[in-house]
Amino acid sequence: MKKLVTLFMIMALAAITAKSALAGDTLADAKKKGVLVVGCKDSLPPFGYIDEKTRQIVGYDIDFVNAIAKKMGVKVELKPVTSASRMPQLQEGHIDIIAATMTKNAERAKVIDFSHTYFFTGQKFITKKGSVKTLKDLEGKKIGTAKGSTSEQNVKKAVPSATVLSFDDYPQAFLALQQGKVAAVTTDEAILAGILAKAPNKSQFEIPALQISDEPYGLGMRKGDTNFVNFVNKTILEMEKSGEAKAIFDRWFGPSTQFHLDRTFKITADK
Ligand code: GLU
Repeated sequence: MKKLVTLFMIMALAAITAKSALAGDTLADAKKKGVLVVGCKDSLPPFGYIDEKTRQIVGYDIDFVNAIAKKMGVKVELKPVTSASRMPQLQEGHIDIIAATMTKNAERAKVIDFSHTYFFTGQKFITKKGSVKTLKDLEGKKIGTAKGSTSEQNVKKAVPSATVLSFDDYPQAFLALQQGKVAAVTTDEAILAGILAKAPNKSQFEIPALQISDEPYGLGMRKGDTNFVNFVNKTILEMEKSGEAKAIFDRWFGPSTQFHLDRTFKITADK
């Protein structure tokens, strides 16, 4: 019996080792290569978008990975991803970390690991001004969003009679709204605010006070990439403590920006 238990323990240990070997150790590998490859958005101000002057991708998500890479002593390489492509890109090893407006949820956490929450928002709609007061006004209507997003899943539940049109990304969905092809665009409020701020005809649109979900953002890493996940979590907790995380928030959402958002969250360790 004792022998059998020992054998079992050896087998379990081997299985655990094999699993973590599969996930690799991004912290060690990236340090060796001198570069951290980041999957980010490139058309969603102020999270990840191309700065008109420098032609570089900048934003809230980018500042977080820059701080993490700095702590690792490596460079950052940014690779644009979509909501649908970000998890496969990570799993196939094309990117090392996702910093792309990504909500943490139980379904996704079966496939990848998440950092502690580093941003918090909720899902709303952009509509033509005055056209939508309650969810009832969206019944039977066409609503645009992005493929592979929580927005797509949430809106199907919140307005089951609507026809959901899924685009590759939100700016395309907003174009459909401008062309009158959909009655609303839905995703996280902070993303909608960014789209609206850049729209030339913004006075025709609004974000009604209709929130259908909470969306806590996490940085996504390969499942079982424990050293890296721990390092990232430790770093963002330190950034909270030092005030760097708040400074990043203020840079993109604070009083000097067009958003004037209140920071209603603090980065804390997940329970
Ligand atoms: N945060 C939501 C999600 O992770 C919507 C934004 C996005 O598509 O990136 O699906």
